[in-house]
Amino acid sequence: MSAHRSALLRKETVAEGTLALHLRKPVGFAFKPGQAIDLVLGAPELAEASRRHAFSIVSAPHESHVTIATRMRDSAFKRALAALAPGDALDMDGPFGSLTLHNNVARPACLIAGGIGITPFMSMLRHATAEKSAHRLLLIYSNRRPEDAAFLAELEDLTRRNDRFRLVATMTGMDTSKQPWSGETRRIDAPFIAGVLAEMPESIFYVVGPPAMVASVLSALEAAGVDGDYVRSEEFPGY
Ligand SMILES: Cc1cc2nc3c(=O)[nH]c(=O)nc-3n(C[C@H](O)[C@H](O)[C@H](O)COP(=O)(O)OP(=O)(O)OC[C@H]3O[C@@H](n4cnc5c(N)ncnc54)[C@H](O)[C@@H]3O)c2cc1C
Repeated sequence: MSAHRSALLRKETVAEGTLALHLRKPVGFAFKPGQAIDLVLGAPELAEASRRHAFSIVSAPHESHVTIATRMRDSAFKRALAALAPGDALDMDGPFGSLTLHNNVARPACLIAGGIGITPFMSMLRHATAEKSAHRLLLIYSNRRPEDAAFLAELEDLTRRNDRFRLVATMTGMDTSKQPWSGETRRIDAPFIAGVLAEMPESIFYVVGPPAMVASVLSALEAAGVDGDYVRSEEFPGY
């Protein structure tokens, strides 16, 4: 990994309590969709070890800036993040990680995101659409409520721009929502996965989200008979 000097360009709210940070792309910074960076804040009030947190890159390599997104929490790091103003300097270390899309376009990809686990998939989907990739892509995006679903409108737009991409958003806690929703509400269990396999056999599965969500989806994949060799996953600790 190598350290790069960067700065905050602007912040954007992308769902309830969820912030995207658009960062200056350091000269020569190159990454693959699905990779992450460590964001290192100069905040003197933070202990050395708490200044650094990992974030998947939301933006695609062709974009002029680097975007990350996170759920805002009352942690010391997130408070320092919230206090950043446009122009403030920060460091990014990386890129790192191997959760990148497989090369064989004959095999479909089933991307399964829990909440903020959507971040690496945004980069992959923006890239695949810009490159007119032949990959068949299905995104299963699970949130409690539409209010929590970052980038949902953009994902719907991507389905119109990329006919190889299909989106199934599922809202598993609609009783707590103030917004209407007429789509899927099931949790991702073995019958849900069986439906995916019927539609897209030979899929390679990618699962990203909070640890409990990832564990539950991995169990569902196993119960549905998916070979573990074709499953890749990444947990976001701290949720
Ligand atoms: C490869 C990778 C990509 C990630 N991408 C994103 C992303 O795109 N968006 C996003 O919001 N978050 C992402 N995360 C998680 C992120 O790094 C933070 O852990 C998360 O945002 C919680 O930070 P916090 O300040 O709210 O909690 P903290 O106060 O830092 O931590 C809350 C709890 O989680 C534990 N914890 C935190 N970080 C780790 C860790 N790395 N390993 C083990 N335990 C830990 C702490 O010990 C504490 O108990 C990613 C993590 C990894 C490893």
